[in-house]
Amino acid sequence: MTPHTSSADAVVIVGGGFGGLFSSLAVHRQLPDCPVVLIEPRKQFLFQPLLYELLSNELQEWEVAPRYSQLVSNKGICWLRDRVIGIDRLTHTLQTLSGDRIPWGQLVIATGSKPNDFGIPGVREHGSGFCNLSDVRYLRQLVQGFHRRRHPNAALAIVGAGSTGVELSCKLADLLEGKARIHLIEMGDSILPNSSAFNRERANAALERKDVIIHLNTSVTRVEANRVVLREDDAIAHQGLVWTAGNQPDFPCLQPPPSIIRGRLAVDGDLRLQGSTDIFAIGDTAITIDHPVPATAQVAMQQGEAVGEAIATLRIGEKPPMFQFNDRGEMLSLGIGDATLTGLGITMAGPLAFQLRRAAYLTRMPALSVGVRSAAAWLINR
Ligand SMILES: Cc1cc2nc3c(=O)[nH]c(=O)nc-3n(C[C@H](O)[C@H](O)[C@H](O)COP(=O)(O)OP(=O)(O)OC[C@H]3O[C@@H](n4cnc5c(N)ncnc54)[C@H](O)[C@@H]3O)c2cc1C
Repeated sequence: MTPHTSSADAVVIVGGGFGGLFSSLAVHRQLPDCPVVLIEPRKQFLFQPLLYELLSNELQEWEVAPRYSQLVSNKGICWLRDRVIGIDRLTHTLQTLSGDRIPWGQLVIATGSKPNDFGIPGVREHGSGFCNLSDVRYLRQLVQGFHRRRHPNAALAIVGAGSTGVELSCKLADLLEGKARIHLIEMGDSILPNSSAFNRERANAALERKDVIIHLNTSVTRVEANRVVLREDDAIAHQGLVWTAGNQPDFPCLQPPPSIIRGRLAVDGDLRLQGSTDIFAIGDTAITIDHPVPATAQVAMQQGEAVGEAIATLRIGEKPPMFQFNDRGEMLSLGIGDATLTGLGITMAGPLAFQLRRAAYLTRMPALSVGVRSAAAWLINR
């Protein structure tokens, strides 16, 4: 069935996260008369960098997870609440889970990534992730449980000391108020391997202040209901485990199969899928061969903006410009009322950095809530 919502002329965007939402707004801005279809199964956009503030109630759900009906539907962008299960590059159509076959003029794949447990037994059964609203609800219950039931050796394990593991440890330590110890387990020899030395130093100091126990050079071999088993046949008892140790790209089946590098869709410098003239892939799911960029919201949003311009250029018969990432630095939340940031010529930590991070909550995108606009202003300005 071909719904009247799409035509062979439409720009169709698959996935409404950072890359997809910003592409759809940018395409609509550049080409106001062109039909734009955004296909996304969730009913709410999720601003993941603010999930910690949602967990601590410093921000509310409507600020961190506004509904697509408010974000795009009233802007002339057609939002289809569906999941794409297959993309046929030869017939220029895609297949959705609900059975629709949808044609496109240009296609943008922005389906993001999903947690990677690296096949370690028990992670899925006994651990939670920290990337969506149900994870936040689960962790809120866990924190409440620790407050209700006093347990002499209460402990929470967080696996992975990248930014998510570190930020979450800080926030949970504040919320737990000493009712449970937090073990932060990392297989590498330092926390935050990709961060600036300043942010790493400030984060180490915050974790120490909050009594978070850091286990470096420590690999997890198995997760059980109440203990996490380490390489040396050592184990840590826990009453809750959060897995933040890695992500893997997530995209629907494409035919003919595309070129894949490190599990991600290989794109050229102008963000078009290798060997394709009218399919773009952006965000966590894509990799540029010559100039690899990190899998972050900052990159996905800038790529989304760039795709708007690229498609407008293609439609007047010209070659799209090359994408250039403008690194705006990094802001890390270090618990309630605390943050560290480096970027835009600023290096700062403590309550003032927290205020600045909040102050970055000033406008850039009129379509979004104040909270989203704010952080987006920091991430996207070019
Ligand atoms: C807790 C947390 C904190 C973070 N903090 C930061 C930060 O401070 N700074 C930063 O730059 N980055 C941060 N990140 C990383 C950032 O969120 C990701 O890099 C970013 O979301 C990637 O954008 P994306 O558009 O590629 O994917 P996403 O934003 O994940 O969006 C993908 C979308 O595609 C949809 N989708 C998936 N499959 C299909 C399908 N088959 N059909 C249709 N739709 C589909 C999904 O439902 C989802 O809405 C954080 C991540 C997490 C989890």
